Amino acid sequence: MSTRQKRYFLTEEEIPTQWYNIQADMKNKPLPPIHPATKQPLKPEDLFPVFAEELCRQELDQENAWIDIPEEVRDMYKYYRSTPLVRAYGLEEALGTPAHIYFKNESVSPVGSHKLNSALAQAYYCKKQGVTNITTETGAGQWGAALSYAAKVFGLEAAVYQVKISYNQKPYRRSIMQTYGAQVTPSPSMSTKAGRKILTEDPNNQGSLGTAISEAIELAMSTPNCKYTLGSVLSHVTLHQTIIGLEAEKQMAKAGEYPDIVIGCFGGGSNFGGVAFPFMRHNILDGKTTRFVAAEPASCPKLTRGVFQYDFGDVAGYTPLLPMYTLGHNFMPANIHAGGLRYHGAGVIVSQLLKDKLMEAVDIPQLETFDAGTLFAKAEGIIPAPESCHAIAAAIREAQKCKETGEEKVILFNLSGHGLIDMAAYDQYLSGSLQNFEVTDADVAKNISELEKVI
Ligand SMILES: *Cc1c(COP(=O)(O)O)cnc(C)c1O
Repeated sequence: MSTRQKRYFLTEEEIPTQWYNIQADMKNKPLPPIHPATKQPLKPEDLFPVFAEELCRQELDQENAWIDIPEEVRDMYKYYRSTPLVRAYGLEEALGTPAHIYFKNESVSPVGSHKLNSALAQAYYCKKQGVTNITTETGAGQWGAALSYAAKVFGLEAAVYQVKISYNQKPYRRSIMQTYGAQVTPSPSMSTKAGRKILTEDPNNQGSLGTAISEAIELAMSTPNCKYTLGSVLSHVTLHQTIIGLEAEKQMAKAGEYPDIVIGCFGGGSNFGGVAFPFMRHNILDGKTTRFVAAEPASCPKLTRGVFQYDFGDVAGYTPLLPMYTLGHNFMPANIHAGGLRYHGAGVIVSQLLKDKLMEAVDIPQLETFDAGTLFAKAEGIIPAPESCHAIAAAIREAQKCKETGEEKVILFNLSGHGLIDMAAYDQYLSGSLQNFEVTDADVAKNISELEKVI
């Protein structure tokens, strides 16, 4: 056995006590979200009917770089944090690369993904404000599971709209949410105006994050003492996820290294921003030259093939208009297994950073992601979530480039979750029936042309 150190942890005292708000350090700030009715830039008060007030303030805060993590949230973080930073010697050997590959293992959270980092914060701020019920949407079920548990921790009732295709294909995720005590409804449903409209026009609609978000927001706005919560896309969600990168920064220092490349898979941008922004601050402030790579599915390529434009975050148009890279809010992504990456748009911070070339994006076909995930599982023992397989695939591409050039680059990627509840997807891959999905230029153009009418 080798005596090489593989895992790096932090002591309880070393766990960060603040989140990092990159908006404060960005030279070009994100453009403001716009109120869909008045067409004026949004103020925090405009969001109060939907979200907990503290979250609204965090959402639009472009001044404070550091936000204190409430003690109640820190206490809960200590149940599973720090998460390990792992040197992936096994993967390096399997690839024969001179690169040093590290991953931050967020799959060790009780619910199996990074999502709990923000769910705990959001549930806490709702509770503090006297809210009794929270509602949300979920795709593959990771966010719904995190939120359901966080609601239980802080004594709130949770109602979750789950994308219908996932509700049917991933029944265990529904059982997990129900085990934590949440009420779960497949979306689109007949329980909201938005859901009824979608089903009237398209009775077989299998749902998307966009339809589920519309339904959850409608429920929050029409129910007293009920707030909506979101698992990605919004700036306050990414803020909470910076605990990942802030820990990783200290752990990399313990390993005596600093990353040349930081990689995250990309749904709405929260785990990518979470691992990347704390390092990006050194590019912005201290002249570091780390590359940041977001890995998205080829079948939902908003960063690589979408347009930068104001668009709604949901299908019904209940959300503010957000300046973002988007495929159009009516874009219906193929039913890939990485359900958490099936979203039409990107968060406003990441969108501005991509526009300003402070980060890059790659899109990866489904089969390549499972090739990568399977190789990783054999080399490191952890079965990755289909979403996380995108980050692994991007890391492998970079490690292979290092093999060609002989460069000993330091690569860090975020393992956003494990795939133990996604074995049906691995089953399909192993039996050879998994396929790639192409998005045609005509498809992208059609959905985007409908946007012109929005603003
Ligand atoms: C939800 C999810 C993602 C994608 O969401 P982001 O907000 O882009 O991070 C990635 N990985 C896992 C495991 C997820 O559950």
